[in-house]
Amino acid sequence: LLRVEHLKKAYQTKEVLHDINFTVHKGEVVALLGSSGSGKSTLIRTLNGLEDYQGGTLTFAGKQVQPSKATWLALRQRIGMVFQSYDLFPNLSVLDNILLGPLKVQHQERKTAEAEARELLASVNLSEYADSYPRQLSGGQKQRIAIVRALALHPEMMLFDEVTASLDPEMVRGVLEIMTNLAKQEMTMIVVTHEMNFAKQVADRVLFLSDGEILEDRPTAEFFAHPATKRAQEFLASME
Ligand code: ATP
Ligand code: MG
Repeated sequence: LLRVEHLKKAYQTKEVLHDINFTVHKGEVVALLGSSGSGKSTLIRTLNGLEDYQGGTLTFAGKQVQPSKATWLALRQRIGMVFQSYDLFPNLSVLDNILLGPLKVQHQERKTAEAEARELLASVNLSEYADSYPRQLSGGQKQRIAIVRALALHPEMMLFDEVTASLDPEMVRGVLEIMTNLAKQEMTMIVVTHEMNFAKQVADRVLFLSDGEILEDRPTAEFFAHPATKRAQEFLASME
């Protein structure tokens, strides 16, 4: 579904991603792991056109991405993204936050879109908050809304960047459960996370990033049992 070849990315003169190569197949869950500053967020933002890049190619659904504003606007409907900060629109109700993309961007029919939005809300146990505003929700609730808001666009792939990192521990589980369910429904996902148990249980593959390079690209069980590089061994030890 997604192929990344020889991707290079620099901020001004500082190159932070060097010759990144990997493929994500349809239905696959890939955990993107690595220590702070290794380039995880930069990589995932580049995949969604939120950062430009200086070399290499991205291919999505068999088509090479020609970086332009129009391409990225179209692709962002097919590749959903959720960040650590929920980025809900504070002046819109929960329901309107979810409906904004389907109605304004995709011009879906209101009745169908609203029925689906309510179904999505029910699927994350937040039906009764349809008319609430983001400020009235807990962090975990906001993050669940941010996820279903992305899903309302029917993406073919989802990118998650530390979506549980700023949540209280008791809120983390509900959000991870939603992601686990998505994985079971064979959503293709790239997940940046510090939740090693989640990565172990849900990811098919691990990409281990260190200083802007992919040092390991391995099946999850293999990676955790026998990290091949010293960097990965140290990383896993630090996460225990
Ligand atoms: P963390 O686990 O802390 O979120 P990360 O793996 O997501 O880290 P990035 O945020 O991608 O790492 O950062 C990779 C490198 O790029 C770091 O050296 C960082 O300082 C640098 N960097 C990130 N964003 C910018 C920016 N907007 N301008 C300049 N340099 C940046
Ligand atoms: Mg980051």
